[in-house]
Order: sequence, then structure tokens, then C-alpha cells
Amino acid sequence: MSSSAFSNLPDAQGFFGRFGGQFVPPELKAVMDDISAAYEDIRQRDDFQQELAMLLADYVGRPSPVFYARRLSEKLGGARIYLKREDLNHTGAHKINHCLGEALLAKFMGKTKVIAETGAGQHGVALATACALVGIPCEIHMGQVDIEKEHPNVTRMKILGATLVPVTRGTATLKDAVDSAFEEYLKDPQNFIYAIGSVVGPHPFPGMVRDFQSVIGREARAQFLEREGRLPDRVVACVGGGSNAIGMFTAFLDDNEVQLVGVEPAGDGLDTDRHAATLTLGKPGEIHGMACYVLEDAEGNPLPVHSIASGLDYPGVGPQHSYLKDLGRVDYQSVSDQECLDAFMTLSRVEGIIPALESAHAVAWAIREAPALSPEQTILVNLSGRGDKDADYVADKLGL
Ligand SMILES: *Cc1c(COP(=O)(O)O)cnc(C)c1O
Repeated sequence: MSSSAFSNLPDAQGFFGRFGGQFVPPELKAVMDDISAAYEDIRQRDDFQQELAMLLADYVGRPSPVFYARRLSEKLGGARIYLKREDLNHTGAHKINHCLGEALLAKFMGKTKVIAETGAGQHGVALATACALVGIPCEIHMGQVDIEKEHPNVTRMKILGATLVPVTRGTATLKDAVDSAFEEYLKDPQNFIYAIGSVVGPHPFPGMVRDFQSVIGREARAQFLEREGRLPDRVVACVGGGSNAIGMFTAFLDDNEVQLVGVEPAGDGLDTDRHAATLTLGKPGEIHGMACYVLEDAEGNPLPVHSIASGLDYPGVGPQHSYLKDLGRVDYQSVSDQECLDAFMTLSRVEGIIPALESAHAVAWAIREAPALSPEQTILVNLSGRGDKDADYVADKLGL
């Protein structure tokens, strides 16, 4: 496959092949075009890039290390497993990478309020953090179910000065929070900005959030080459909306010898109705202003979805992932709640690293795959976040 299949995407209308675009009302299209123009402007400015680079280094703590998980690899007796430690970033996950970018953009555009949804609370915390740093009011919409499950993150958002809006409609999870946040945004889109938490939504968000996250793969590719003298055989990341995965994959898209694997949540199983494996079982549709794979019913309404990891239970997925699936450049596979829990405990006890339940999906895939490979082969896992937020939930569930 030639590199031209991946460069210059999305196109000017925001499409990745047949996915992406701007499926929004006309008045919102004008606002999205403004954001797009402002982003095109600032991304080419040295002062913006220098400020972002300084904050990524001195505030986030980048570059995050690549760690060889020796005990885990030896225990499995197959491929050597490496972890890209996004869990070590300030606020504990990869999301701070794009939240800083979005907060700086909001400041540049003179917006008066930043609005967002959050699932596990990680996007809310990262955004509240970035807004505190930049000095812009921040309003976070969160499903009531998630509020109860992710209490420490709720407290952090309040301490950071964000306004928290609980959402009780529907299944009171991520999708409902997106709808609620979007309604607030529509009240004054000229002065507000919706800071989307993943590579989803209308153009320019999928491409812009990818650009902010692609620092992960740029670093990891260079770090891996430096230490091993070659590229990893497999690169794996969990996929909710798809931001940590695309952030990792972008630097490797043209390396055809590297197998890229996105791991979706199979929940209770792909043969049940309790999963969120959008790319595995969904079909092309539209959700939240974009065309992408969607889990939906016969009438085109999004289905209720489930994952043990709040940050992964979303019935849509980034348009670029939808495109990469059709091209066959990325393999999308899935891992159940039980495999995720097992991986969560294994990584904690074998390496002393408590992963986020989201990230534990990628770890679980590596644990499943490694024994079939040889120690000459390598798997690079994007460890998207730390699991402090999930510790009480898991301890309860396992009776620890
Ligand atoms: C939010 C979150 C995810 C899922 O979001 P993506 O956009 O798919 O990356 C994964 N891992 C962690 C730690 C998260 O907080």
C-alpha cells in the first residue's frame, strides 16, 4: 500500500474515504468552519507550536518512557512486550495531550467557555486541568452511572474549578453525556467551544485531535528504534472513540511490516447485547455529526452499549479508524470484560503497574497473543492511562 493512502487526510470536507464529514445543521457548519480555519492558522504558527511543545515537556512530562515489561514477557514465554507509558503523564492518561491543544485553541479564538462530555472522567479531568492552566471556564457533562463509578475523577474536576453537569437521561452514560453537552453548546456556539474528547464528531475534530495525539507514536517509534534497532512487530492500543490508538498508529501507518491492532471492548461477549465492539459488529452510519461505523438498531438509533471500562462504551468510533478498517491497514479485535480484569490484575502484580481498565484491554490482547510468538518478536502496547480511578471498583468486584 502506498503512503499516499494515508497522507493528506482528511480531505478539505473532512472525509476519510466515505467516513467523517460534517453532518451538522447549517448554522453549526459555519462555526465548525471557523474552528477549522483557526486551527489551520495556529498549527502553522511557531508561537503556538512552541507553547504546546513547552507544555508537553514541562507540564505533561513528555516524552513518556517506553518500558520493557520483562517479567510479564518471561512469564508468557513468547514475544517481548513493551509499554508506552502514557499513564505517567500529568493527570494519568493520554487525554491531556489533546486537551492542552484544545484549550490553547479556545484561548486563541477568544471563546468564553469550554464544554465537554466525559465517560470515565479522564477527559473531564484532563480538560478541567488544561482550562485551569489556560484560564478559561470549563463545563463538564457526565452520565450519572459514570459519576457513581468514577467518583475520584468527579472530585478532581470540582477541585480544578470545573462546573459538573450530571446527566440522567437514557442509559446515563457516555452517549447521553455527549447529547447533553451538545445541547448546551448549541445555545451559543459563537462564544462557546465544544472540546471533543476523542477523534470523533464533525470535522475538524477527528483530524485535529489526532494531530495533538500523534506525539505518542512519534515518540514511541523513535524510542523503540533507538533501543531495538528496528520497529516493533505489533503495535496495539484500545479503541473507544480511538484517540490513543490513532495517536499511536499515525507514525506507523507507512511501516507495512508493523501489524497495527485496535482492541475493542467485547464486554460480556460479542454474542450478547452487552458489548461496545463498534468496528467489529457495527455498520456504516452517522452519529454525533460524523459518518463512521455505528452500533445501531434497524431504525438507525444508537444501541445501548456496555464495557467494564467507562471510557470505551461508545456506539460510534472515529472516522479514520472506520476508514483504516475498510483499507485493512489496522486489525480490529476485541477483548471481554473478564480478560480485561485478568490483565488488570496480572500487570499490577507482575510489573507493579496498575493500568486503566481501558488500557487493560490492549494489555489483555498482548497477553493473549504473546505466547504464540517468539522472543525475537516484539509487541508495543500503548498503556493509555493509569488505573487509580478503577482500583476501588475492581477491588469490590473481586472481593479484595
Ligand atoms: C478515554 C480513555 C480511553 C478511550 O478513549 P480513546 O479516544 O479511544 O483513546 C482509553 N484509555 C484511557 C486511559 C482513557 O482515559
